[in-house]
Amino acid sequence: MEQEIRLEGVVRPDDALRDPYMYLPFSVPARTTRLHVSYDYTEPVTAPFGLGPGNRIDIGIFDPRGAHFLEAPGFRGWSGSSKKQFFIAPHEATPGYIRGPLFPGEWNLMLGFERVQEDGVRYDVRVGLTVADREAPDADPAATLPDAVSPAGRKPRQSGGKGRFVKGDLHCHTVHSDGLNTVEDLARNAIERGLDFLAVTDHNTNTHHEDITRLSRLPILLIPGEEVTTYWGHANMWGLRDWVEFRCPDAESMQKVQRFVLQKGGLISVNHPKSVGPPWLFEQWSGYPCMEVWQAPWRFYNWESLERWDLLLRRGERVVAVGGSDVHSIPPAPPMHPHGLGNPTTWVYVEGPLTEDAVLDGIRQGHVFLSDDPPGPQLILTADADGDGRFEKMMGDTVEAGEGQRVSFRVRAIGGAGRKLWLVCDGFPLDIIPLNDVDSVYNFSLELSGRTYIRAELRGLRGRPERGEVIWAMTNPIWLNSDG
Ligand SMILES: [Zn+2]
Ligand SMILES: [Zn+2]
Repeated sequence: MEQEIRLEGVVRPDDALRDPYMYLPFSVPARTTRLHVSYDYTEPVTAPFGLGPGNRIDIGIFDPRGAHFLEAPGFRGWSGSSKKQFFIAPHEATPGYIRGPLFPGEWNLMLGFERVQEDGVRYDVRVGLTVADREAPDADPAATLPDAVSPAGRKPRQSGGKGRFVKGDLHCHTVHSDGLNTVEDLARNAIERGLDFLAVTDHNTNTHHEDITRLSRLPILLIPGEEVTTYWGHANMWGLRDWVEFRCPDAESMQKVQRFVLQKGGLISVNHPKSVGPPWLFEQWSGYPCMEVWQAPWRFYNWESLERWDLLLRRGERVVAVGGSDVHSIPPAPPMHPHGLGNPTTWVYVEGPLTEDAVLDGIRQGHVFLSDDPPGPQLILTADADGDGRFEKMMGDTVEAGEGQRVSFRVRAIGGAGRKLWLVCDGFPLDIIPLNDVDSVYNFSLELSGRTYIRAELRGLRGRPERGEVIWAMTNPIWLNSDG
């Protein structure tokens, strides 16, 4: 038996401003075997990147197990505004939605009003239910929800291995949200591009994590992630297989999400905090461990993020700079942007086997530099804190020195010829050194008193000189502590 339910209404900008999420309850009878939803609304945004006039309504769904904030056990998927219809059945579902039992009871469609024009928006949702006449003979014992936690992804990718930098991309999207490729397409492309790890961070859902587990035999470390996509800014989460809450209208709720992620052993980052992108508006959110200082090619407004990050560092906030391509399509899918996976690349120092934990730990410690592309350039900042000639401290570490004592630093730049090495201390350039060699080592020493951090950048032209310089590579800071 087929059943159709129609849910219609009008929402005004004021309503959306009070609460951008609206729940439309409907009832699912026993023996439902398939749920299909399609929706439409008046005057959708048509301009690229969702800019310009028009309305935009996102969609998601919760089953009767509950939709409460933070741990909504009934979460069954979200597709933003990227899909006009979806279905859920016991053994399959549209990517972004969780297959499994269609529990009888009250379900809730959730609409997210991202943009509403002055004269309001009319929405029209149709829910189609297929209900069996009698219980299926096997009562569908296989219709269990996908396992949220799989230990497979935590297995080492390589055994042994001494300390080295591994490279990857921390931000990309697939068909599970608004990307155009499968997880496997992206993983294979990342291998071709020479990456050691790839974090897949679809918007507001975790259904791609199953693919990550399924593809664990590929010669690349796939890290589960989610781009927590709110109407006030985006944040990447890495390392959990759980779904992570995104219905955050203020810094306080974002803080709760952060606590949830960190307590479960994941990591979280502010994404693309610049005016294009969308911007980051949770000014009161604090204590986040990472910031996506470099998203997409450098010229894509990353100077703004860099300036924002430097202000945090000057206040002594140890926020680790990471990079992410935010790729939504690669060939042969139609192009959505002019760059690929690994633009930029995040390099993380790991010791021992290459595992999810090793990469996330390296990031936590700030043992990280960023480069324009997977082949480089590479930029590594180290320090010899005790004067024994061994440069045992690196980016993310702290060096200590007594009053008036100088500490030796070393920068190695591979692929820096024809570009300039910038040494940045407390937000200001300390020195700018032209580089002539493909592989250069630059040594300098510094008295630490009154200084907070030192970091390095590789800057140079790209394309026509009048377009100015870009950053080709940058390090995280070494923190400076002088006693006294
Ligand atoms: Zn984003
Ligand atoms: Zn993204």
